[in-house]
Amino acid sequence: MQRTTKKKLDAETSVASAEALNVLSTFDFERARTALLRWFDANGRTFPWRSEPTPYRVWVSEIMLQQTTTQTVEGYFSRFLERFPNAAALAEADEATVLKYWEGLGYYRRARSLWAAALQIVERFGGDVPERFEDVLSLPGVGRYCAGAILSFGFDRRAPILEANTTRLHARLLGLRLETTTATAQKILWRAAEDWLPLESGKDRKPNVYRRLNGALTDLGRLVCSPTSPKCDDCPLTEFCESWRRDYQDVVPVLKKKTETVSRTDVAFWIERRDLFGDCGSGGKRCDGSTCSDVGPTDVLLIRRPENALWAGLWDFPRFEITNEAFRGALDFDGDVELCDRLQRFLEEEVGAPPFDRRPGAVVYTVKHAATRFKITLRFCRLDGAAPLSSSSRREKTLFDELESAATSQVALPPPRRSKVAKKTRTPKTPEAARVAAEVRWVSLAELDAYPLSSPGRKLARFVLKNRG
Ligand code: SF4
Repeated sequence: MQRTTKKKLDAETSVASAEALNVLSTFDFERARTALLRWFDANGRTFPWRSEPTPYRVWVSEIMLQQTTTQTVEGYFSRFLERFPNAAALAEADEATVLKYWEGLGYYRRARSLWAAALQIVERFGGDVPERFEDVLSLPGVGRYCAGAILSFGFDRRAPILEANTTRLHARLLGLRLETTTATAQKILWRAAEDWLPLESGKDRKPNVYRRLNGALTDLGRLVCSPTSPKCDDCPLTEFCESWRRDYQDVVPVLKKKTETVSRTDVAFWIERRDLFGDCGSGGKRCDGSTCSDVGPTDVLLIRRPENALWAGLWDFPRFEITNEAFRGALDFDGDVELCDRLQRFLEEEVGAPPFDRRPGAVVYTVKHAATRFKITLRFCRLDGAAPLSSSSRREKTLFDELESAATSQVALPPPRRSKVAKKTRTPKTPEAARVAAEVRWVSLAELDAYPLSSPGRKLARFVLKNRG
């Protein structure tokens, strides 16, 4: 950056932050709180974690709500709480069971962190969610916002929160013309979030005051001070709002420029044991074509998603990214030499299949999903020559567009395995054990339902089971 441009930007930053700090220092919090809470009493949202706000329930809800709408979470929350009513019950479960109850919520890293945190709550804090800010913050999956939310909503402690809704609200109230993720803006916004919470103690302490104020700020940001076209006419804070006074609603908050999305194509395979080893015709007896084993001919191949991949820790069908530009939009991958070679190597080296030439068959199903900056088209195939699905299902289908999280979704080949032949193995009990246990497994069709699968994997499983000939 040229020196004069940087100087200009620095000067603009100081002016913008000085203006916002000036608004903050003269803000009439006392009257604004009264107006806000009156609005909250009439308009606040009701949720199961609000009607019975125990620290454990608040903690689970806050982890579920990260990157997920309240509407979606409501469908999962009660079921999860019924199965894991407290931290001890959650810590007792194995990772696969926790993931199973999380299946469909996305961002599976959260479920694993929740489970790891439950182990710590039991070991370090005797089974109760801790009440000290530093202790809450030290739990896996808990950041500054989440710790504040657990303390204020769960314990009614004076702890500020700042998430998307309150960031927008505070930025607008202050007329903050700085990009909200910058360090300077964050400092101002956190200070505003804290200043909203009065210092109350002793007999002056009103019950639920912090719980209600943080809930009210979040709800007002969500319901009234919306990202586009805020409903200023319905807002209880109009007279306190700098953006309203200066007509800044459309320019504040200043958001970071979005990164460009990248399109990519992955191919995943539904592979049955008999597709690789044949079928001796023993009529459903567990058999690999030459010697009887504990694996059935129609058992299907699953791999466990590696660390740092999308759906880390869940099970999925073997998946490969299409790197050959010419095949990105294809519906037939038989000519993609690179994919055929990777598939062949994977089957021989990772699954122990005999060395016959195996190629992708026709695409049977397509799922589209988004993962951070990637827009992924996922094509599902069987191996060429595998038992066909019923004729109606062979046409190419695109059913779902879905939004999913990912730290990264670059992984195409599964990680190296320790043992050659896919076996049933015990589910690892600790997060550390889970991390090293990248696996390949044959799973019977009856067992598929109980496996925690990636979301496209679940769609494929349902599709194939419905359409098998
Ligand atoms: S007056 Fe408008 S811009 Fe200001 S806080 Fe209320 S809704 Fe948001």
